[in-house]
Parts: sequence; structure tokens; C-alpha cells
Amino acid sequence: MRTAALIVAAGRGTRLGADVPKQYLDLLNKPLLRRTVEAFLFHAEIDVVQTVIGAGQDDLHAAATVGLHDGLGLLSPVTGGGSRQESVALGLAALADAGVDRVLIHDGARALVDADLISRICRALDEHPAVLPALPVVDSLRRVQGDQVVDGVDRTGLVRAQTPQGFHFGAIVAAHQAAAGQDMTDDAAIAVADGIPVVTVPGDEDNFKITVQDDMARAERVLARRAGGMMETRTGSGFDVHRLVADRPLMLCGLPIAHTRGLAGHSDADVALHALTDAILGAVAAGDIGDHFPPTDDRWRGVSSDIFLRYAAGLVRLRAGHITSIDLTIICEAPKIKPHRDAMRARVADILEINVDRVSIKATTTERLGFTGRAEGIAAQAIATVALPCEPITLTGR
Ligand code: MG
Repeated sequence: MRTAALIVAAGRGTRLGADVPKQYLDLLNKPLLRRTVEAFLFHAEIDVVQTVIGAGQDDLHAAATVGLHDGLGLLSPVTGGGSRQESVALGLAALADAGVDRVLIHDGARALVDADLISRICRALDEHPAVLPALPVVDSLRRVQGDQVVDGVDRTGLVRAQTPQGFHFGAIVAAHQAAAGQDMTDDAAIAVADGIPVVTVPGDEDNFKITVQDDMARAERVLARRAGGMMETRTGSGFDVHRLVADRPLMLCGLPIAHTRGLAGHSDADVALHALTDAILGAVAAGDIGDHFPPTDDRWRGVSSDIFLRYAAGLVRLRAGHITSIDLTIICEAPKIKPHRDAMRARVADILEINVDRVSIKATTTERLGFTGRAEGIAAQAIATVALPCEPITLTGR
């Protein structure tokens, strides 16, 4: 018995706000499509995996599947058609010579499909020619016109259809040929139209289609839960310098500090918050402050730098992680930092939404040596320690 997985990822939709199709966006540092492919490729009951991609997506697909081809059973991708149905038909045609008896047809955007669900489909295919994973409809249903409720819909006998949908290969190929030219929503519908009995098995709430930005955050929470609460420690460092000039207010750690001069810069030039932001971005390998808030962008002119720090802390939370501690050193001859230290710690803790006992702020002079010693500028360095859900380490760097 040979079983194929056919993964339909021909969408060109960029609904998540990025400029690449959503199936190639990273979910916890791994492209969505790679997660989907790996779920099947590393499953003991799946022998070959065929992907169907959009025209012109060959390079994206190659980058997303680096290291998965040789000997693992991932076939070269085929280019899809104008509709999902057509794309599946092209994928089935490509599998014609693969010698498979069964095929599991799956949406590429359901990247969280797990091994148990794949096994349930395979077990049911031992007894039935067609299998649909389904979930109950819990909420009540209403028919609307615009925003007006017209009437209620009886949910008795309704389920929510998921993928992978499993089929005996010859049966679904014949059903697709019979349905050619139509536009059916999924392969179970095509099977039913051809008289093939389709049975349901329980689906999985985590196996949702990732289509909007909120879905990415939900998907990361699912992955965090699957990590079983196991966290790993990441560390990042940050360093920044700004020049002291006349006629600028001095902002340090998000607080206005009375001083004869202030720091020059595109934003409010809060050197301490910039170093901290870079430390946190470093801990989650998310580039640097200039990548996220380019000084060439007028939006950030004169803004309060707590925006940058809040953003970096948000990236950690988005990955279901938390900031364990930060340690910041401000390097200057003047002003004296010590009188402000407790207020600074409280302010930084507030911006990061962590307890103040996780925030260390220190200061040093450089004994009147160098640019800080001559009071030409203020420097700051920071270390951030972050806990993130464990991710299996893969050798391909993905
Ligand atoms: Mg800076």
C-alpha cells in the first residue's frame, strides 16, 4: 500500500500584508508551506509528497523546501491551474506514475496538521474509499443580507469540513475527470457528486487555515502549546551611541532628564531604549532597530522611543515567549544616572510589561577617556534574556 500526500499551495494571495504569497511566510522562523510538507513527509504512513504551486513560485518553493528533496519523497512541484479543483486535478495527474493506491489531499495553508489526524485518515481509508475530517458546528448559524439577519439556519446535520481528505487513488482520479470544468469547493464534494461514499473522522481545531494575520499569532500559540511548555533561553545584546547637542531635551529610559544638553537623532534619540530594543530584537534574531524603524522614514521623526521598545517586546509575546531579564548600562560623565535609576527601572518595566525586578539599570563613566569621557555623546549597552517555546533544531537552518 503506497500513500501520497497532495498539497495544494497554488494561491497567490498576500492577504497577510506581505509581498510574498502567504504560504511562504515564516511561522516561527519556518515557512508555512515547509511546516505543511514536513508534517506529511516525516509521517511513517506517507510515501510521497506532491506539491502544487502557483506559476512563478518555483524559487519560493525551492527556498522553502531546502534539504527536503533528496530521498525523502518530496517530488518536484507541479504548477497549478486557475481554480483549486484544477490545481488538484493537475496534482493527481502528476502522481499517475508514482504507483500510489491512496492520496491525502491537503490545503497548504493548514500548516498545523498533526500526525494523529493523518493517521486517522489513513486508518479510515483501510475501510472506506473516501474520508473527510470534520468538526461540529457549535455556534448557531444565521442567514444575513448585508448586516441584517434574515433567518436562522438549522445546524442539525452540518459539519465543518477540513483537509486532509483521503481517497482511494483511482476513485478520486475518476471523480475529478467526471467533474472537470466545474468549480467544486473541495474533493469530498467531487467524490460525493461521483457517487463515492465519503465517511467523516474527527478533525482537529488546531488544523485551521492560516489566512489572516491573527491566525499567525494563534498558530504560534498552538506551536508553543505543542512544545509542552518547554522553554529555551535566548540572549541578545544591543549597543548605541548618540551625540550630545545644545537645544535638545535629554530623554533616557523613556524619561525626560534635566541636563544642559540633549541627544541628537531622528527620533527622540533615547540611546538607552535604542540599545535595549536592539538587545531584545537580537534575542529573537529579528534584525535591528533600523530594519523595523528606518531613520529615512518620516513616521519616526521625533517619536518617543518607547514605541520601538514596545514593538520589540510585542515580537517576543507574539512568539509565545517572555522577557526574563534585561541589563542596561548607560555610559556617560553626566548627567548622574543614580538619582533617576529607580524611576528609569519602573518606566522600562512598564514599557516591557514585566516586573521591575527583571530590569537592571547601571551607569558608568569612562574616566574622562574617549568620546563619552569628553561628554561628546552618551553610549548605552544592553543584554536581554528571553524565554521562547522550544523548537526542534533542524540542520538546514530553517
Ligand atoms: Mg539610536
